Amino acid sequence: MRIGIGYDVHALVKGRRLFLGGIEIPSDRGLLGHSDGDCLIHAICDAILGAISEDDIGHHFPDTDQNIKGIDSTKILSYVADLARKKGYRIINIDTVVVAESPKIYPHRDKIKQRLAQILNIEKDCIGIKGKTTEGLGFTGRREGIASYAVALVEREPEKWQEITGELNLMG
Ligand code: MG
Repeated sequence: MRIGIGYDVHALVKGRRLFLGGIEIPSDRGLLGHSDGDCLIHAICDAILGAISEDDIGHHFPDTDQNIKGIDSTKILSYVADLARKKGYRIINIDTVVVAESPKIYPHRDKIKQRLAQILNIEKDCIGIKGKTTEGLGFTGRREGIASYAVALVEREPEKWQEITGELNLMG
């Protein structure tokens, strides 16, 4: 078993659509970014990448790459889940906190879980989504941005791992 942690922040600006956890949420502001700005997905990606000892999301998807400008973050999550599988890991569960003054996350949690479960190919009840405000304090409280935290637990699939280490001759 291995655990990973991820954190991400994006600025909230007028005139952008809001994407969080792979779904669009009605809002007067959206998250600014080289991608669609989905900081919840980015935090989850970094948690998984950390658990499998990979470099972070910025290494795999650099914001200087014009080919991925405006990329749908669900594509990044699919890539990360695929990478974990290829390295012989199975995702056990994901837990997250979205820090936002508004919009409220609670009414959307089920739809987000459903979407993430579909992308990660895990059960919906293996995903936790919690919304928190900061009681009006700080950049999240002033609605200047949204922050997300995530942890991911993964497990090595013994047979797959043996196959991979054999192929790569990691054991010398
Ligand atoms: Mg990000």
